Amino acid sequence: MKKKTMLTLALIAGTTATLSAAPPVITKEIREENGKKVEYMFIDGIKVHEEDPAKQPQPKVVTPSAYDAAAAKAPADAKVLFDGTEVTYKNWTATNGEPTKWKLIDGALESAPGTGYIQSKEKFGSCRLHIEFATPTKVQGSGQGRGNSGVFLMGQYEVQVLDSYENVTYPDGQCGALYGRSKPLVNASRKPGEWQTYDITFHRPIFNEKGEVTRRARFTVIHNGIKIQDNVELSGGTGWAGPHSISEYAKHDDKGFLQMQDHGNPVRFRNIWIQEIADDAK
Ligand code: MG
Repeated sequence: MKKKTMLTLALIAGTTATLSAAPPVITKEIREENGKKVEYMFIDGIKVHEEDPAKQPQPKVVTPSAYDAAAAKAPADAKVLFDGTEVTYKNWTATNGEPTKWKLIDGALESAPGTGYIQSKEKFGSCRLHIEFATPTKVQGSGQGRGNSGVFLMGQYEVQVLDSYENVTYPDGQCGALYGRSKPLVNASRKPGEWQTYDITFHRPIFNEKGEVTRRARFTVIHNGIKIQDNVELSGGTGWAGPHSISEYAKHDDKGFLQMQDHGNPVRFRNIWIQEIADDAK
């Protein structure tokens, strides 16, 4: 009898495309630290930015195959946002709409530390995005201070960029993490200075008129040809809101700017193209 019930449930789940897995359980705790109240947040019982490998194991390190130039080439129907030229450099601005101070060097966009994020002139919602990045060849700093940047879909949801090659940090903040929410399945990072690829399928969140999220954002991320986020539903925002706390969903428009983060390290980007997809696309 029990078996039959389970089978029926499986069939229902299989035919209902909008059904999703149970959302992770989020709990919060306020702790007093040095006379200050600090918010701690836990996802399925694991502290955000947990560094103890006994509680949050480090993703396994895997070796990606060589850069695949054919796979990285923009398909005919993709919108090329940056291809190394002056013309496509003009597709980008600072977040106040002024010209960006990021540098165009050797066909790459390089973050100029202290100049702020860069963003696309155009806004996007659900999409497939190809973007390439290289963390600095000259290794400086450690943990979150080494080769840190980020790709922000809709200016909101960060796929972390970090030099995670032999550089340990909290798993939900390493390269390929949905920052503070979901660690990558494996660590597929290349060496500092080497070009790396992200192929991201992103489904935007949907909000009702009251500002509540009725469908959470979803990410699939392929890093250097290896799937590291597998149709992951974001339980909330990825904005940093304290040492062990991150932001909640906040209602926003159906489209937003694609942004890359200035986190004080000269990370480079190149070959950026995007395909807009229907919100319900597979
Ligand atoms: Mg970052």
